[in-house]
Amino acid sequence: MSTLLHQPNWVNGAYQSASEERIHVINPATESAIATIDSTPLQTVNSIISSSLDNFSSGIWSKVDASTRFNVLSKAATLLRLRLPEFIDLETQQTGRPIREMKAQLSRVPEWLEYFASLARTHEGRVTPFKGPVVNTLIRLPLGVVVQITPWNHPLLIATKKIAAALAAGNSVIVKPSESAPLSVLKMGQLFQEAGLPDGTLQIVSGYGRETGKFLCESSLISKIDLTGGLATYAAIAPTASKHLIPIIAELGGKAPVCMFPSISVEKGVKAALFASFIASGQTCVTGSRLLIHSDIYDEFVDLLVRRTKNLRVGAPTDEKTQIGAVISRASVERCSAFVSQSIDEGGKVLCGGSPTSVDGKGYFFQPTLVETKASSNLACNEVFGPVIALVRCESEEEIVKVANATSFALGASVWTNDFSQAHRVAENIDSGIVWINGHHLNDPSSPWGGFKESGLGKENGIEAFESYTKVKSTIINYGQEPTWFDDEVENARPRLSPNTNQ
Ligand code: NAD
Repeated sequence: MSTLLHQPNWVNGAYQSASEERIHVINPATESAIATIDSTPLQTVNSIISSSLDNFSSGIWSKVDASTRFNVLSKAATLLRLRLPEFIDLETQQTGRPIREMKAQLSRVPEWLEYFASLARTHEGRVTPFKGPVVNTLIRLPLGVVVQITPWNHPLLIATKKIAAALAAGNSVIVKPSESAPLSVLKMGQLFQEAGLPDGTLQIVSGYGRETGKFLCESSLISKIDLTGGLATYAAIAPTASKHLIPIIAELGGKAPVCMFPSISVEKGVKAALFASFIASGQTCVTGSRLLIHSDIYDEFVDLLVRRTKNLRVGAPTDEKTQIGAVISRASVERCSAFVSQSIDEGGKVLCGGSPTSVDGKGYFFQPTLVETKASSNLACNEVFGPVIALVRCESEEEIVKVANATSFALGASVWTNDFSQAHRVAENIDSGIVWINGHHLNDPSSPWGGFKESGLGKENGIEAFESYTKVKSTIINYGQEPTWFDDEVENARPRLSPNTNQ
C-alpha cells in the first residue's frame, strides 16, 4: 500500500480533497514521487468560486479595518518565519534547488507579508482639486474574487508576493499553484488561518493548468487574473478573460542580458556572471542568459568564466555544498539539450558543459553550459529556462545596447561598469522593466517587478501591485451650488448646465 502523502486543496478553512483523481509531485533530483495533490474538476472549481464570492460579499475581509488586515498579514509573517525550516525542506524537495539557495530566498519571503501589511495600514485616499464648491474623494476598494496562477520555479516567493498584495487590498483570493511544485503554497492555507484570516478568504486549489487553471480563468465571476508563467499560458487565458473584461497581470518570460564593460574587473565580472546565470540552474525569469561582453575584455573574461563554470558543484540539492541542483523535469533536460544542438548547427561553440548529467545515477540535471554564439542565434534570443548560457562578443557600447534590445523579451537586464556616465547611459537605453547596475537578481517587496514587450503586463511588488488589486471609487459631494436643473419657464425649457458638468 502506498504511504505517499496526499496534500488536498485548502478550501473554506480546511484541507479537503476535490476528487479521486491525483497528480504525483516528483522530486526532480531523485525522480521519486514525494506527494500527491488533487486534480480539481470543473464542478469543484465552480463551487469554490461561489464560496469565495460569498466570502467577499459578506465583508468579513473586504470591509474590515485596515488595522485588522495589518494584524493578520503581520502575524502570517511571524508564523512563516518560525516555520521556515519545514518550508525550506519542502521547497528543496519539490524544485530540486540547492538548499543553500532555498534558505536564502525563503528567509526573505516574510518581508512581503510585512510590506503589504504596512501598505494596508498606511494607504490613504485622495481629494481631487475639483472645481467649485465640491469635495471629490477617491477611495480604493477591493476588486472581488481574484485568481492567481503561479509557476514552479519560486513557488512560495511568487505565490506570497501575489497573495500578500491581494489580501492587503481586501480581496478574496483563489491560488492555483503549479502542479509541479504546489506543496509549500498549499501549506500556507493553514498558516493564514492561524494568523486569523477568515475561512474562505484564501482558497488554494490544485490541478493541471490546462484543466483546473483554465476552469478558474474562464469564469466570468472573477475580478482579476494574476499569472506568472509562459507567454503561451497568457495567450490561452487572455481571449476569454477579455470577453469578460477581466484584467490580467502577466509576469512572463525573459532573456536577461548581462552587459559587461571593460572598466569592471574581470574577477568581479566573472563572479557576477556566474551568479546571474546559474542560480536556480538558470530557471528564473531574469536568469542572465545572455552574456554580452565587450571585446576589450572578452578573451580574458571568457577564459576565467569557463574555468570557474567547470568548477561549479553539481550535486544533491539537500547537500549544503551543492551549487547547481536539478532542473524541474525530464522535458526540461531535453529542452536544454535541444538548445545546445541547435546552437551547434547554427555555428555556435560549446565552451563547457552541454550535456545531461545525474547525481548518484538519478535526477534531472544538466551541466552548467556556456556557448559562444551569434547575437541572432536561437540560443541568444529565446528562453531556455535552464543552465545553458549564450556568450556574445560585442565591439562597442552601442553594439551591447543594440543586442540587449534585440529580443522580444524585456524583463531584466544588468549593466556592469565602473564608469558612472556609461552606467546611466546604458541603463537608460535598455528597454527593460528592470535594469540593475552592478547587481543582478536584486529584489525587494517595495520595488515594482515586471517586464515590457512579451515579458508581461503590469507589476508585482510595490505600491503598483497593491493598487492594481483595487478599483478607484470617486465620490463627488456638492456642498454649495444648486443642483443641475431644467428651467421652470416653458419658453426657456432647455437644460441650463452648471459650469462644471460636461453633460
Ligand atoms: P507555465 O505557463 O507552464 O505555468 C504557469 C502556471 O500556469 C501553472 O500553474 C500552470 O498550471 C498554469 N497554466 C498552464 N496552462 C494554463 C491554462 N491554459 N490556463 C490556466 N492556467 C494554466 O509556466 P511554468 O513552466 O510554471 O513557469 C515558467 C515560466 O514562467 C517561464 O517562462 C518563466 O520565465 C516564467 N516566470 C516569469 C516570472 C516573472 O516574474 N516574470 C517569474 C517566474 C517565472
